[in-house]
Amino acid sequence: PVVANVTFEIHAGEVLGVLIRLGAMKTVNELLDVDTATLVAEEFGYTLENTAVNVDELLDTGEADSDQGEGEPRPPVVTVMGHVDHGKTSLLDSIRKTNVVSGESGGITQHIGAYMVDSKIGPICFLDTPGHAAFTAMRSRGAGVTDIVVLVVASDDGVMPQTIEAINHAKAAGVPVIVAVNKMDKPDANPDRVKQQLTEYGLQPEEWGGQTQFVGVSALKRTGIDELLEAISLQAEVLDLRAPSDTRAVGTVIEARLDRGRGPVATVLVQKGVLRHGDHFVCGEITGRVRAMSDHTGKLIKEAGPSTPVEIIGLDGVPSAGDAFVAVEDPAKALQVAEFRRETSRKSSLASSTRMSLEDLQRRMAGGTENLELRIVLKADVDGSVEAIKAALEKLSNDEVTLRVIHGGVGAINESDVQLAMASNAIVVGFHVRPEGKARQLAEREGIDLRAHSVIYELIDEVKAALEGLLAPEEKEVYEGRAEVRDTFSVPGGTIAGCYVLDGTITRGHQCRVLRDGRVVYTARISSLRRFKDDAREVQQGYECGLGVERFNDVKVGDVVECFRIDEVKRTLSAPKPAEGARA
Ligand code: GDP
Repeated sequence: PVVANVTFEIHAGEVLGVLIRLGAMKTVNELLDVDTATLVAEEFGYTLENTAVNVDELLDTGEADSDQGEGEPRPPVVTVMGHVDHGKTSLLDSIRKTNVVSGESGGITQHIGAYMVDSKIGPICFLDTPGHAAFTAMRSRGAGVTDIVVLVVASDDGVMPQTIEAINHAKAAGVPVIVAVNKMDKPDANPDRVKQQLTEYGLQPEEWGGQTQFVGVSALKRTGIDELLEAISLQAEVLDLRAPSDTRAVGTVIEARLDRGRGPVATVLVQKGVLRHGDHFVCGEITGRVRAMSDHTGKLIKEAGPSTPVEIIGLDGVPSAGDAFVAVEDPAKALQVAEFRRETSRKSSLASSTRMSLEDLQRRMAGGTENLELRIVLKADVDGSVEAIKAALEKLSNDEVTLRVIHGGVGAINESDVQLAMASNAIVVGFHVRPEGKARQLAEREGIDLRAHSVIYELIDEVKAALEGLLAPEEKEVYEGRAEVRDTFSVPGGTIAGCYVLDGTITRGHQCRVLRDGRVVYTARISSLRRFKDDAREVQQGYECGLGVERFNDVKVGDVVECFRIDEVKRTLSAPKPAEGARA
């Protein structure tokens, strides 16, 4: 994480050439660590002096970076995940109402994004934002705050797509899962079916010889809650969670907002050490001093130890969820770190990211990097295809590269898929499905390699070609816009779709896909386009139009027409653009 700013009066290509000789395959936008930069500088007869801010040194709390075996035992931090409507929110509510560690103010809790409950064995911290989106969003920012995942599965409904997603998110994070089989009060509750189904995903109940604890609960009737808490405590004991409590505090921002009266307010989960009233701190690009600190019951407190969520005020801005929080002795250091981070993030948002992509894989293979793993998030239209493609892709693994599908699911590529890819440095592959608008934007913004295909051989061939180092000149698809079908008209020779352009532009003659419930039903050219009675070349966002899709008469109200064009892009494997100063 140490960065050096160097300006060479040397062509970027020469620097990259030296790097290749040194065995480091880099692109012109990548950051170098100080050691590598020193070597490169020496090659050109320069001596490198490191004047960069060493964030690690500045923030050094003088403690080894270990969760296990060091320090005092600390409570576990739990996230609740599961399919929509299976009862995540209800479960969190009923846990809070029955067992919350009550403060002097009478146990009325306020929402701060996390809370502590008492179990027979000890306290437990629950993160109050259910669902894997929050979980993965944090992890994609490098914040592993969860020790244990409670997977909620409704006993009358069984395993559903988001159940599987949640399992894969937990697996990717290496976090153990406890299954809460919910809605046991229902007459059609069938917990054995849930156990049976989950066995297929590697969650074997203990009573069947496996490792996973299953607890039957009813969030509605508040039964089984104590057993669930006990199961969590047992799991926590196995994990032997520890943290030093004699150092300055280190934690993660769980939530933050701007409060009208109090200014920026953040909920911070203290993970190591003790946070005290009056401490100076830095979190992300924000600095501050703890002016007031309260627990989840709203009670003002003076200090908070590991695994305690606290709400603090005294920040000079609003940090982001997932930002690392570090208490510092010297406020000047905090300012320096925040300033350095602002500068780095400004620069890295200018430079393209260094996410994994198929091109990148090829480059790394060319560089002779050993033991590469290509992780894939796979989405398809039906379950059978997921299994088939997963098997086909994983079979492509060879001596140099292992392919691993870390998540396979049915349905459109959503934000959560892209976040999982971000967190796990994976690529996203879709078969017969398209990314949702937000997912596409996120992937573009974060530089996630996202590929959607409708022909299985194309998909397999593309990955295979990358593995063999033969990626053909890229045909890059450029998204242009989407229109929603609001009416249809029969005309001689076909059907016209009366559309409203949701975003971007629809252009006559360009390619389009007809999407129904996120699935591709047809791909062809836009053969006619009209505004009112007149032919139009293109129609922009916010306008209505009538359009015809070449040789497709089956368009229906509610379909979405996605317009795109294909650009040919030359592959640039090692040809950097000339730059005046290479940022090394
Ligand atoms: P979430 O989407 O996973 O957060 O699910 P919710 O907590 O919002 O619950 C979805 C629905 O299931 C609500 O109507 C709840 O009242 C109901 N529900 C949740 N837990 C139980 C339960 O234990 N028994 C029964 N019968 N209904 C439940």
